[in-house]
Amino acid sequence: MCLAILRNFAVEVFFVQIDIVTIFPDFFRGPLEYGIIRRAREAELVKIEVRDLRVHTCDRHRTVDDRPFGGGEGMVLKPEPLFACVESLNLAPRSERAETRQSVVLLSAQGRRFDQSMATELVSLDRLVLICGRYEGVDERVGTHLADREISIGDYVLSGGEIGAAVIADTVIRLIPGAVGNQASTRQESFFVGAEIGDKGPRSTCSSGGLLDYPHYTRPADFRGIKVPEVLVNGNHEEIRRWRRRSALEKTFRNRPDLLSEAPLSAEDRDLLAEIASSHEQ
Ligand code: SAH
Repeated sequence: MCLAILRNFAVEVFFVQIDIVTIFPDFFRGPLEYGIIRRAREAELVKIEVRDLRVHTCDRHRTVDDRPFGGGEGMVLKPEPLFACVESLNLAPRSERAETRQSVVLLSAQGRRFDQSMATELVSLDRLVLICGRYEGVDERVGTHLADREISIGDYVLSGGEIGAAVIADTVIRLIPGAVGNQASTRQESFFVGAEIGDKGPRSTCSSGGLLDYPHYTRPADFRGIKVPEVLVNGNHEEIRRWRRRSALEKTFRNRPDLLSEAPLSAEDRDLLAEIASSHEQ
């Protein structure tokens, strides 16, 4: 986020630069060129620079990897090209990165697990550098002396950090104000925390309050005999709100009960949950 002065008015302009360091720059022809992400780039809300790691090698073969010390399987990404690449980006020194709103992230299965609240934290940065590992991984000194943090996108092992970088970039970019046409829609989505909780749960139907999203339906109202819930077509806003909240609670209870302990629940939510739990016991 930057503060810009326009015609004597100080306005906050969100702008994030994301640099992706990879040995496969062509990988990103595609994942970040559609829909919301493409429009955000065109509107210059975000700039994505894909950096080819091999540009920062010094030998004829443009070597980026080497055998592991101590023996063992596979190859490891060497530190020199990664340090040279990140150092060419003119970032603040590592000790000053947080205060200058910059962060260098190493994609790693051993990192802290990425989630929506981490995305909310990353979108407040001005500059985000994503380093994609490959092979058996990356020389550990990259994690300890170059990157500010290691992030994993989930408890499984990918063959490279590129898919993880695309996941993080997509999730962060759609949170930039203006990236999604109707900003309220990002508040209603699964995992969003930050809703005002009243007696009846979040004040509008437009807020998931840390739960999974409620079910969505569109026309036709009757598709092959499968009808949309009556409550959604009868126009009673209070009933719709209550139905959506109950459905979100029920889906969360069924698929992600771990989220319920963190979500701010109202008195009405607790009653609905008790009903849901007892209907599941029967
Ligand atoms: N030997 C490593 C896996 C290396 S996979 C281990 O067991 O932890 C090669 C690269 O893919 C990693 O360096 C990392 O950049 C990326 N990667 C693999 N799984 C990932 C995950 N869950 N999240 C983010 N990046 C991942």
